[in-house]
Amino acid sequence: MEFNLEDYPCEFCGKPSTNVVYAAFVCSNPECIEKARIERGGPGGHMKKKAEGKPIIPEELVPSIADNRDVGKKL
Ligand SMILES: [Zn+2]
Repeated sequence: MEFNLEDYPCEFCGKPSTNVVYAAFVCSNPECIEKARIERGGPGGHMKKKAEGKPIIPEELVPSIADNRDVGKKL
């Protein structure tokens, strides 16, 4: 499955994403990256969310992430 970041808009300004930080899609704008950091509660913020029993990633991304894991195993 092909995974193109640019198919996902930045969660803060709507431009095509170039990064995934703190489990959020963001563009290359440092302001958006900072917003993502704050929104997720900084490093470990997504784990806090997980501890609350909430999903940490959108369901439609799960297959992509599984693909990434497979790539990691090969390396
Ligand atoms: Zn942005």
